[in-house]
Amino acid sequence: MTTYVAPTRDMLFAMNDLAGLAEITALPGNDEVTPDLVEAILDEAAKFASEVLAPINAQGDRQGCQCKDGEVTTADGFKAAYSKFIESGWNAMPASPDFGGQGLPSLVSTAVLEMWKASNMAFSLCQMLTLGAVAAIAHHGREQDKQLYLPKMVSGEWTGTMNLTESQAGSDLSAVRSKARPEGDHYRISGTKIFITWGEHDMAENIIHMVLARLPDAPEGTKGISLFVVPKFLVNADGSLGERNDLICASIEHKMGIHGSPTAVMAFGENEGAIGYLVGEANRGLACMFTMMNHARLNVGLEGVAISERAYQQALGYARERVQSSPIGSPGGAPVAIIRHPDVRRMLMNMKARIEAMRALAYFTAAQMDKAHSHPDPDERRKRQTITDLLTPVVKGWCTENAIDITSTGIQVHGGVGFIEETGACQHMRDARITTIYEGTTGIQANDLIGRKVARDKGAAVKLLLDEMNATLAALDAAGDKELRVIGESLQGGTLALEQATEWLLANYDRNPASAAAGAVPYLKLCGTVMGGWLMARAAVVATTRVSTADADFHRAKVVTARFYAEHVLPEAQAYRQAIVNGASSVLALEESLF
Ligand SMILES: Cc1cc2nc3c(=O)[nH]c(=O)nc-3n(C[C@H](O)[C@H](O)[C@H](O)COP(=O)(O)OP(=O)(O)OC[C@H]3O[C@@H](n4cnc5c(N)ncnc54)[C@H](O)[C@@H]3O)c2cc1C
Repeated sequence: MTTYVAPTRDMLFAMNDLAGLAEITALPGNDEVTPDLVEAILDEAAKFASEVLAPINAQGDRQGCQCKDGEVTTADGFKAAYSKFIESGWNAMPASPDFGGQGLPSLVSTAVLEMWKASNMAFSLCQMLTLGAVAAIAHHGREQDKQLYLPKMVSGEWTGTMNLTESQAGSDLSAVRSKARPEGDHYRISGTKIFITWGEHDMAENIIHMVLARLPDAPEGTKGISLFVVPKFLVNADGSLGERNDLICASIEHKMGIHGSPTAVMAFGENEGAIGYLVGEANRGLACMFTMMNHARLNVGLEGVAISERAYQQALGYARERVQSSPIGSPGGAPVAIIRHPDVRRMLMNMKARIEAMRALAYFTAAQMDKAHSHPDPDERRKRQTITDLLTPVVKGWCTENAIDITSTGIQVHGGVGFIEETGACQHMRDARITTIYEGTTGIQANDLIGRKVARDKGAAVKLLLDEMNATLAALDAAGDKELRVIGESLQGGTLALEQATEWLLANYDRNPASAAAGAVPYLKLCGTVMGGWLMARAAVVATTRVSTADADFHRAKVVTARFYAEHVLPEAQAYRQAIVNGASSVLALEESLF
């Protein structure tokens, strides 16, 4: 089992050369974020990830969490690691300084979060949900709730959760049935929520639940759902802990992966009703929850990048050590490390190229968020928000779908021992499997992409990115370099496929919605594949100019990896285009009875 070494060189390249860190640090409010500071943060985070979080990852998987009488105990080492995590200020790093956070740009915190997720995905979920809850309260909560809850949630002394799902309400939250009854300045909440990540645990003294429920007179459907903040322990006006609220963890799930993270069934209001406070306007809870969900969606996409990187490191380590078979062309020759066999090379290159493209896309999106938030020009802010909105489902869906393939390839590189738990490769695949499901399945992301992000603005957001891609095509051509020309030809094919599929989608979305929906996931994958290819092409343009510098090896490898992506991954765009434009009828033709 290999440990985790943060790929800080590639992270810095993606931040500086693809996402534009210099532009981000020049934004108002980021004056103190210097390149030296960013490198120092990444170095410290890399140490924490490999020295504190990675060593307890397998233990969390083996031991899991225990639930007894409503109390949940985490695996050995988790509680101590969490104390160190918050004492070192890592929980607060991405949060706003208004409540004790360090307010670092999303681009910087994204790189750090990737390290937490790669070293110990189950552990990292606790911070992810806490920060999502912080964002929801900060944007929509009452002033007194902000003062009461946020400082301790930002520091990590208290953690947060997201309570959406009920047994009859998963992808379709309009079916939420939990109730909220008004009582003085608060509400009494009752109902059962399922699958609540870090819903109960022993790492923090209080847990602040964000809960979706319906008021007595609420309209049916999504327009009748409100959001409430419901603490495990009520909080006195001076911030001290008061009585235990009427909510309990009824049980935790036995699941395929992320065993270190408890997934709780939460029972609210089995007695007098749990006390909760309205967040935002009544019946507008889903809109408020979206603040939290968009944040979480990008972070789950990042989980796809992170867990793939972990699987790649594990596979690479094994491929260098495992000796088997003579090299191709030397029958009877001495056996060699399997990394010498072309097919193992192909698998490793496939993992590496996809991971670098996914990282580039996730970091690029984080930079768009920073610009959307802080750019002085309102037009630029709007433009960057449009691009962020378009990319959010793509990062979530594409990076996580890739992660399933990449972690599976990681097992394949190991041969038989990959299938054996002790090796450690299985855990990455089992952990990765949830990422395409929670925070909205790939199907739900894809519906959001084709509907709200493409059809609604008549393809304007896609056009913005296609314009940027065309500029890269011109740069690839102008460089007069053979390798860049190969990459350019492939990217040209990819952008054409994206253009044609988008035109088809716009022509069919209203007229033939079932056909459009039949191609939604292929369209999401087409977007990811081409946008990732575009960023790899940009990477190659930059790296080509640096192959004789002190950091020549990294840049030579980048050019080769970009060419591999262009030759082996980008051509998949043609198959997606074909499935979208010509394949809808075979998706829908079979009568239900013939399945
Ligand atoms: C480990 C784990 C942790 C979780 N953590 C949390 C948490 O912290 N908080 C929380 O609230 N929830 C959490 N969830 C719940 C998770 O978000 C849901 O499981 C997820 O949203 C899918 O809902 P569902 O399971 O009901 O599946 P369903 O909605 O029943 O979906 C089943 C299938 O139908 C497809 N489908 C459904 N509707 C459509 C549609 N309109 N178009 C196309 N396809 C569709 C889906 O894509 C999927 O393939 C967690 C789940 C798990 C397993």
